[in-house]
Amino acid sequence: MDHETFFRTELDGLRREGRYRVFADLERKVGEFPRATYHGESGPREITVWCSNDYLGMGQHPSVLAAMHEALDSCGAGAGGTRNIGGTNHYHVLLEQELADLHGKEAALLFNSGYMSNWASLGTLASRIPGCVVLTDALNHASMIEGIRHSRAERHIFAHNDPEDLRRKLAALDPARPKLIAFESVYSMDGDIAPIETFCDIADEFGAMTYLDEVHAVGLYGPRGGGISERDGLSSRLTVIEGTLAKAFGVMGGYIAGSAALCDYVRSFASGFIFSSSLPPPVAAGALAAIRHLKSSTSERAGHQDRVTRLRRRLDLAGIPHLHNPSHIVPVMVGDPALCKAISDELLERFDIYVQPINYPTVPRGTERLRITPSPLHSDADIAHLVEGLSAIWGRIGLQRAA
Ligand code: PLP
Repeated sequence: MDHETFFRTELDGLRREGRYRVFADLERKVGEFPRATYHGESGPREITVWCSNDYLGMGQHPSVLAAMHEALDSCGAGAGGTRNIGGTNHYHVLLEQELADLHGKEAALLFNSGYMSNWASLGTLASRIPGCVVLTDALNHASMIEGIRHSRAERHIFAHNDPEDLRRKLAALDPARPKLIAFESVYSMDGDIAPIETFCDIADEFGAMTYLDEVHAVGLYGPRGGGISERDGLSSRLTVIEGTLAKAFGVMGGYIAGSAALCDYVRSFASGFIFSSSLPPPVAAGALAAIRHLKSSTSERAGHQDRVTRLRRRLDLAGIPHLHNPSHIVPVMVGDPALCKAISDELLERFDIYVQPINYPTVPRGTERLRITPSPLHSDADIAHLVEGLSAIWGRIGLQRAA
């Protein structure tokens, strides 16, 4: 087989479907978030980003940048090894203590990304606990799915956010077998929130462990940014809380928080932890500064929620259809990959607005959307401009408006 022809044919298939991914070449600029320079075909120009997961703009926060500069100047660039072989820097230790405290757990364990923390932790727990059965929500993130698949443990997929289906599936299992329920708090594409308390009740009823991905909630919810589990006073009921340092905390990395024995177990057995060089000290220092800041400052969370509410109201007034959900994620539904890309392109070309189209496999086919993420730094004028742009495009193409 000519492999080059194979690659090109496959890529042509993606283009025909309208879901070939084009990365916008962006240059973020300190102090100007959500503005960035877009390097397009006609040269660089300023645009407004409306789809960043740097939800609170912490990636440019002065205290985060100062901490990173200081760590860079004092410790240098890289960590110099895996955690076990010279790569445990004092910032890693402080960061793990801070994360354990954030979630009210005995311990935390750092990974190089949220993806890796899910893949390695779920893979290790599910494969090494003898006879473990995994109950996994139908809309769990790819990193959880891959970790569970990698474990080769028996798995049962329960209907999304459906306690009855979860209970039914648990009831059909041998009561003596160890069970692990894996789910997310805020689902990143629909922005809906899991019934965490009910799931914990069911877990208690069947003696199951719980694994909660709070990637899209840490920093954003709870009095200290400990996520939905902190907001709802449920942290202590979860066996594992997993999160990222790359979204609301604005830097990079992932982690789990849980009992000292559980974290020590994953530390000691997870290949994805053991055999990967640790995060650069400046990255750990920046994340530490972001977490500390958001533990005591609530103004970013309040500003965030205020912007979300205002955007939703303005979209409603303009009749732009969006999913109503209880989180900060505002999905404007389009339902066709080519159209979604065309709207995104027109927003960029005519209105200097960047919102990435979201296509399969990130969302099911037919539910393509623009996933809009307001930040506390989007102004009233930014919101008005976005809604005017969407409204103009809706009118020009003749798309249906919401009632
Ligand atoms: N979990 C969920 C629900 C996510 O949406 C993502 C990333 O978007 C991850 C985990 C992975 O986190 P990271 O970007 O830190 O690798």
